[in-house]
Amino acid sequence: MLIGACRAAPKTEPRAAGGTKARPSIMLVTLDTTRADAIGPEATGIDTPAFSELAARGRRFRQAYATVPETLPSHTSMMTGLYPAGHGVHENARYLSGDRPVLAERLRQAGYRTVAFVSAFTLARRFGLARGFDVYDDEMPEGQVERAAQETTDRTLAHLRQDSRQPLFLWVHYYDPHYPYTPPEPFRSRYLKKPYLGEVAAMDQQLGRLVQAFEQQVKGPAGIVIVGDHGEGLGDHRESQHGSLLYQATMHVPLVLVGPGIAKGVSDTPVSTRRVFHTILDWAGLGESNSLRGSEQEVVLAEAMRPFVAFGWQPQVMAVLGRQKAIFAGKLEVYDVVADPMEARDLAAEVEVSRALKTAVRDYPVPSLEAPLAIDSLGAEEVRKLANLGYVSARSRPVVRKDAPRPVDMSRLFDVIEKASGLFAREEYARAIPLLERILAEDPKNLDATLSLATAHSALGHEKQALEAFRGAADIAPDSQDVRTYLALHYARGKQWERAVPLLERVVAETPDRLPALEALAVLRERQGRTSEAVALRQKIYGMRKPSAEELVRLGQLAMDDGQTALAIEAFEKARALQGRAFGQDLELGVLYLAARRLPEAKDSLDRVALSHPEYPMALFKRAQVSVLLHEPDRAARIALARERADATTRKLIAAERLFQE
Ligand SMILES: [Zn+2]
Repeated sequence: MLIGACRAAPKTEPRAAGGTKARPSIMLVTLDTTRADAIGPEATGIDTPAFSELAARGRRFRQAYATVPETLPSHTSMMTGLYPAGHGVHENARYLSGDRPVLAERLRQAGYRTVAFVSAFTLARRFGLARGFDVYDDEMPEGQVERAAQETTDRTLAHLRQDSRQPLFLWVHYYDPHYPYTPPEPFRSRYLKKPYLGEVAAMDQQLGRLVQAFEQQVKGPAGIVIVGDHGEGLGDHRESQHGSLLYQATMHVPLVLVGPGIAKGVSDTPVSTRRVFHTILDWAGLGESNSLRGSEQEVVLAEAMRPFVAFGWQPQVMAVLGRQKAIFAGKLEVYDVVADPMEARDLAAEVEVSRALKTAVRDYPVPSLEAPLAIDSLGAEEVRKLANLGYVSARSRPVVRKDAPRPVDMSRLFDVIEKASGLFAREEYARAIPLLERILAEDPKNLDATLSLATAHSALGHEKQALEAFRGAADIAPDSQDVRTYLALHYARGKQWERAVPLLERVVAETPDRLPALEALAVLRERQGRTSEAVALRQKIYGMRKPSAEELVRLGQLAMDDGQTALAIEAFEKARALQGRAFGQDLELGVLYLAARRLPEAKDSLDRVALSHPEYPMALFKRAQVSVLLHEPDRAARIALARERADATTRKLIAAERLFQE
């Protein structure tokens, strides 16, 4: 009866004047790092009134599962309706391919205004989820990689005040419960012993403000989804954070729906959060299949592949049907998650596992290890930002090993790995080395740790230890291109150009988009005096990542030396836009504009050259030339000034300058 009633609901939706169906405005709120047992009416030791009030008004799914215990892949599933095998984003720092349709695109095509506010660099525009959004606010406070729910809410509310006749699709992402746990007052004092819960409670307060503002602002029907992207280990199964294992602490997430056709109450049917995609399309009148408004039972899948793609540990797959949950990672584990939500008792040897679950975990596609590394398309600054968010990025493809360890058996290394990765990204090599040695003591075939150790020694000038570690890496993976790359970078660091160049040339020939190799080769080409190649490499690199102002200045200088006037002007102007008054290449820019016969711009550039510039006489000489070419009334005075202030170089140039002999 209930199901029949909900199914009929969209057909009886109110129609707007003019005869077209009124589409509801829709708000999706994703709660980062929020355990299912840390929020809502059944949570213990915490009060989350905003979430609980929504749960009371709508439908709460008590068995909702993330597709991946990591931010970007989990959100990618909600935005595409696909499991990671379908969308290809198995870990953070990847990029959603442009050929996968996304929710915001579909809604925008259907007439929605699409707006997103995200709260961490992990979901920055560059990772591909901004597609389809009219507004995608991923601006973090200066020098920071995340922002608090309060700030995200303030910005969202300011935006909501703008009037619009279009239905709205609003996605707000809150990041607060992510480690480190530093709740604001009064939550800090209230949850002194449980700061994680303090973060959740503080976020809930902002959720209340957000829901109230959204409902006041949108006219007509509305739909709201509140969902977690993954949970947090908090020590369960010896995992303190998330991303490495598939237990309930990180996979079981809160999910509440309030909206058209949604029956009030609770549901105990296991569902995947990827169906948020289908549910929102359903609300928008774009198709009913897979909507959570229906209650089709399905095998819910999930994966945690980061330990596999980073270290070659066992790939991990999860499947849930009813109250039975299977995890496969080298061997099968089975739990009754209703009777035993802590998954303390593995029933694999005791119970008959459903055939559907067995098939699901057996047939689950394991990602290829041949894919390019995420880190190879990131600049050093982006790697540091991700490391500051606790993200471990692999520097090499692992070797496939028959005796690969199961991630759950390596749990004592999780925190060590995270710490080592962070220190490494911040170039604190001396502190990273003992941690890397500890990882290798437990997992000697770990290529990533071996290459990190080699690189750390190399950076510190420990030639002997570095080479020893590189030999170890070559033993683990004799054909690894990653070993060649890092060895080449080691030679480059030690100025052993003749060894570095052929290795790098080979790496770049095999993988033309490998950023660290391209960067090193660009430096070497410059030292070899092969300027055109250095310029071309730098252009390619800056097409892949954002250059700094200093790098743009260097590109401008190289292009100028190479006679590429237009490119040099472009690079200097970009640097000037970034540096403002600190920009020091106005003389070069003036000379370039003069060479390009862009005289008004040459004049402006030369007028900006400071009196204190060591080549100020040259600026006066060039300025006088420009003055003559522009027929300025004071050109004679400018020539006189250039003569008067001339140095040895410009004196000769002035004497030979025919423009001055009128
Ligand atoms: Zn997350």
